[in-house]
Amino acid sequence: MTGLDKNIQYVKGVGPRRAKMLEKLGIEKIEDLLYHIPRQYRDRSQIKKLNEVEPGQEVTVAGVVKARDKIRTRSGRNIFKIAFSDETGIAYATWFDQPYIFKNFSTGQEVLISGKISDKSWEQQKRIEFIHPNFELDGEGGLHSGRIVPLYPLTEGLNQNQFRRWVNSVLEEHIGAIQEFLPEELLKEMDWPDRQQAIWEVHFPSDLEKRKKAFERLVFEELLLFQVKLSRKQEEKSKKTGYCHEAAPSHTRKFIKSLSFSLTSSQEKVWKEIKEDMEKPAPMSRLLQGDVGAGKTVIALLSLLKTVENGWQGAFMAPTEILAEQHFYKMEPVFQEFGLKTVLLTGSLSAREKKKNNKAISSGEADIVVGTHALIQEEVTFSNLAMVVIDEQHRFGVQQREALLSKGITPDLLVMTATPIPRSLALTLYGDLEVSVIDELPAGRKPIVTRVRQTSVRPKVYQFIREQVGQGRQAFIVCPLIQESEKLQLVAAEDMFRYLQEEVFPELRLMLIHGQIPAQKRAQAMKDFQAGAIDIMVSTTVIEVGVDIPNATIMLIEDAHRFGLSQLHQLRGRVGRGADQSYCILISDAEDELAQKRLNALVEHNDGFLLAEEDLRLRGAGDFFGTRQHGATPFRFADLIAHQKLLRLAREKASRYVQILYESDRRFPGDIVR
Ligand code: ADP
Ligand code: MG
Repeated sequence: MTGLDKNIQYVKGVGPRRAKMLEKLGIEKIEDLLYHIPRQYRDRSQIKKLNEVEPGQEVTVAGVVKARDKIRTRSGRNIFKIAFSDETGIAYATWFDQPYIFKNFSTGQEVLISGKISDKSWEQQKRIEFIHPNFELDGEGGLHSGRIVPLYPLTEGLNQNQFRRWVNSVLEEHIGAIQEFLPEELLKEMDWPDRQQAIWEVHFPSDLEKRKKAFERLVFEELLLFQVKLSRKQEEKSKKTGYCHEAAPSHTRKFIKSLSFSLTSSQEKVWKEIKEDMEKPAPMSRLLQGDVGAGKTVIALLSLLKTVENGWQGAFMAPTEILAEQHFYKMEPVFQEFGLKTVLLTGSLSAREKKKNNKAISSGEADIVVGTHALIQEEVTFSNLAMVVIDEQHRFGVQQREALLSKGITPDLLVMTATPIPRSLALTLYGDLEVSVIDELPAGRKPIVTRVRQTSVRPKVYQFIREQVGQGRQAFIVCPLIQESEKLQLVAAEDMFRYLQEEVFPELRLMLIHGQIPAQKRAQAMKDFQAGAIDIMVSTTVIEVGVDIPNATIMLIEDAHRFGLSQLHQLRGRVGRGADQSYCILISDAEDELAQKRLNALVEHNDGFLLAEEDLRLRGAGDFFGTRQHGATPFRFADLIAHQKLLRLAREKASRYVQILYESDRRFPGDIVR
């Protein structure tokens, strides 16, 4: 174990509290910090003399502090000012309401100041003044100024200077532990730096050209490792034997007959593919793609039934508690008909229930287990797990998928997603999976009518909702997304709910649902909504995936431009699940062209695949997949759209280097590929 594996809290200045914040960025170990690379830089490499600078310019200057002063205005603002000079002139720097800045400075001290020179101070007082500039004091080695400065994607409570200091100290202390694994001849051929240099350069570039080479190398190695991993997986898979299901279809046939609808021909086709796979001795690894509302759950149910009918256990994992609960409550009665036992496993069960359910799972008494990530907890052991289904698989990481699989001995795997990944990308991302596609919606569905509306016409929209509810329909209202802060998100949702219930729809039955509502209350609310005892569900994005309420016909999304396109498509998919005409109303005052184009793409396309292609065209892969936390793409650096050339190169080289990489006994940086 090198120091790189240590928990991030041991980096000087981090500690347990900030480690929690870093966890949100996916940074847990010291090594992760090094792979959290800046997405932007600011060039502060040129230090200017004070007699060369002009008002309005963004510059870095160096000087000695001549005086400092703290002023409190009558309105109660704290102003802190310094005067500093170099050999060509004098300048000022001013900060408002940041009392902690004061203690940093003393007269005679050398400083670097980076920022914009105020036009106003020049016009009014003919002086060079920086308002809220970046500063750096003697002794920080030019970390924040006087160079190309990295800007990191951060989260609430963290700041750039602090983060830069952590990265710098980790680099200085640990860079020696970073090991090269690319063959030297390849580095020569591509003119790439070695691994240590590359990591250093992407954080603190000596120039932008070098940074580009370094980044390219990191993207390539990631794609290469991904390819190598894929081929290793395929090799391993071909050697394995798994559960060989018998063909006798009595349960499944009976179940299909019992449905109130008949399967679409797409559903029949994919079920046939899955069934045949399950009957083969090799373990199945199959991805089931199908747009929102296409009816994937029935297929999952069928494969679980088939497993159980063979005397084995099945597991069904969903990304949110709401969804796991919904699946459980729908499936339990179905399975009960066949005399089968289904148990639920989520984080918010009481300790007693958990213990009871775990016992049923390990003894084999439970035939089917439906749950969240709770399924992959260590204490969960199965008696004979033969079928694993993962719903909304794009919300899970590869590791979580593997963790659930490892609860059995080579169980069959079915992962399901509606996230419309263009086929070319799916091939790369899911190269180790066979793909089945449901490419039609059940008959009789009317396309959802989608409209973008400005906030000024909200009253009309509310009136429309009132009319729909009057006709017995139900609605979702999704609160604005506040990604930066969970706390603010909840406050906003609560405010919105109160306003809607008290001022707008006092005569209707509204319910608020978000991630912090206790599980029991939430489950009850979902049941009430399902049963029609609630008219309008006001919600955060906790209902984004999977929720199935066929009587709901209106989806209203506030500040729609703040959401990702695939997220909007998922949210819209909560309606249009029954025979009635459904509507999706996107409230937005966004004026920028790209935002409008994206919202209009939703108006034009109901088909998730078309939408995905359109979104990729509009803004590239990075945004489409959403944030990395969702685990949609396993990459830290690579962007499958932007880096297609490198991907081709990696594919080409993979076959050549697989053997070398396998045989090398150096630590395989497997962590890079998730
Ligand atoms: P998704 O693919 O998004 O997971 P679901 O499996 O939740 O979709 O199905 C959406 C709705 O469509 C459910 O209410 C389900 O009962 C219904 N459904 C599924 N298949 C059919 C079908 N062949 N005909 C009519 N309704 C169907
Ligand atoms: Mg679903």
